Amino acid sequence: MHQLIASPYNGTLLIARPGSKGGMRIPRTLYEELTSIAESSSPPPAWFLDRARTAWNVDLTGVAMRDTVLVRSETRLGYGRATYEINKGCNFNCEHCYLAERKFAGLPWPDKVRLLHLLRDAGVLWLQFTGGEPLIDRDFVDAYTLAHRSGMLIEILTNGSRLHRPEIIGLLRDLPPHKVTVSLYGATPDSFDSLTRKPGAFRLAEKGLVAAREAGIALELALITTRHNAHELDAMRALAERYGSSRQEYGTISPTYTGTPEPLAAQAPASWTRPASSRAAPPVTPSSTSIRTAWRPCARSAARTPSTSCPRAWTDSSVCPASPMPRCFAPVAAAAVGSPAPAGSADRSPRPTRRRRHH
Ligand code: SF4
Repeated sequence: MHQLIASPYNGTLLIARPGSKGGMRIPRTLYEELTSIAESSSPPPAWFLDRARTAWNVDLTGVAMRDTVLVRSETRLGYGRATYEINKGCNFNCEHCYLAERKFAGLPWPDKVRLLHLLRDAGVLWLQFTGGEPLIDRDFVDAYTLAHRSGMLIEILTNGSRLHRPEIIGLLRDLPPHKVTVSLYGATPDSFDSLTRKPGAFRLAEKGLVAAREAGIALELALITTRHNAHELDAMRALAERYGSSRQEYGTISPTYTGTPEPLAAQAPASWTRPASSRAAPPVTPSSTSIRTAWRPCARSAARTPSTSCPRAWTDSSVCPASPMPRCFAPVAAAAVGSPAPAGSADRSPRPTRRRRHH
């Protein structure tokens, strides 16, 4: 299995390591050098060994290129990121979520393979698996494995209820994701189970967090606040710190699909404000008749969704109740080999609208 990936990304050429946030850009001459020996039994070049040691503390001395470095080809389409909703169903039933109306269904396996191959061949390097709840899909392990072996850096968006399962933890330990983002719906069983309308949901999510932490899997917590748990926000933050993860907080709800205001009833009063960049639009309150026009149904086209500014300066992200703004990868500062820096964020080009389910 590869330990490092060399890949085109948004007009740049990167080296990244699955399961690690570090990365670096390299010039074309070095990328072409890697390409020329990618399938060979030759060891990686000295500069590569040196950088791998410096950036990730990985010693690849004596290892064949073909066994350790996956060099991805440049593609005509040149896509960099994608989100795959592998299953529309969810084993929770959150009050604010439209997914109760969706079937527990995903593509048949042959079509999943075809889709993942299409994403690979389109150049996708960063892939989010989401749903519904992605871990309920019967093909999740195989789909994740295929995507990982195709050289994609993967984030999983999950409610955490199945994260503790041995087949999932084993998979993530063997094939590390970029990160697993777990939605946190409260700090106590009362609030969590009430929001998700799933008895035992809090216990399952905690079990998943414990298992993931013990396995050394990179975790992020998405703190979702609604009227059920807004009073527990500080405790939720403490929980995130306990699991050693980074966190993001989400409280704004906007109608999805139908555009009707019912989901807003779940929003905590403290979140009845508009994102800063949308202040010119009418205010959103649960009783406002302007909701339909202010917050139109979420769609895949950014043109149909309200947008807000990203904390990391992206400007084209959509905001949606079940899908807060995608988080970006930390900025790449390195412009050349020798300055390892987090990969993936040099992308300032328009990005497709993405939705998050847990959340
Ligand atoms: S918000 Fe997330 S966890 Fe809750 S029902 Fe929707 S998809 Fe499931």
